[in-house]
Amino acid sequence: MLRADYADRMSQEPTETCPGCGAVLPLTTGPIHRYLGASASCWERCATLTGVGEPAIFLDPFNGLLVDAYAAQHVGTPSDQSIQSVAVHLLTLYGVILEGVAPDQALWLRRRVLRPGIPEKHARFVWLTPPDFCHGPRIVAIEAAEPLQMAAACRAYIQQVWSAWSRTEHLPTLAHWYQAYVTAEKIGPERSPA
Ligand SMILES: [Zn+2]
Repeated sequence: MLRADYADRMSQEPTETCPGCGAVLPLTTGPIHRYLGASASCWERCATLTGVGEPAIFLDPFNGLLVDAYAAQHVGTPSDQSIQSVAVHLLTLYGVILEGVAPDQALWLRRRVLRPGIPEKHARFVWLTPPDFCHGPRIVAIEAAEPLQMAAACRAYIQQVWSAWSRTEHLPTLAHWYQAYVTAEKIGPERSPA
């Protein structure tokens, strides 16, 4: 539920719409992220929540996946950086949610996907057309939640972003990438029999 003061503030200021999640938020002069497709105001909220946000959200290790869900939702436009970012963050969600990797191993997952091997990390992934996120979920719902509900709102946000992706035709591609770049002991071409 939105706090009353929050709803009030939202109705009085000039706004901008986030291209990643459709959130309509008061304009800010803050920076935009280099390659995420997020409005400055939406990104500011993500940076706050993941940086100095309510620590209670992150007592639940699953909520450390907030950054993965946010990047997987705010995909931006196709570029080497955005392709790699979306792949790494989606494979991290895939590992924890589908493969049962402990959420506190998320950093290990993000690094493992990019470990050295052939193909080189820039050539491993392709652009995945994202599901439609224009109706959310939105990170702003976490900030707007009552303090005791923030951790649950964060968890719900992460799960909703993943669930939208998991219903796309890209799930088999993600499964293939996960096998090749996370599960496989070594990243490299299949050896031909001697
Ligand atoms: Zn957004």
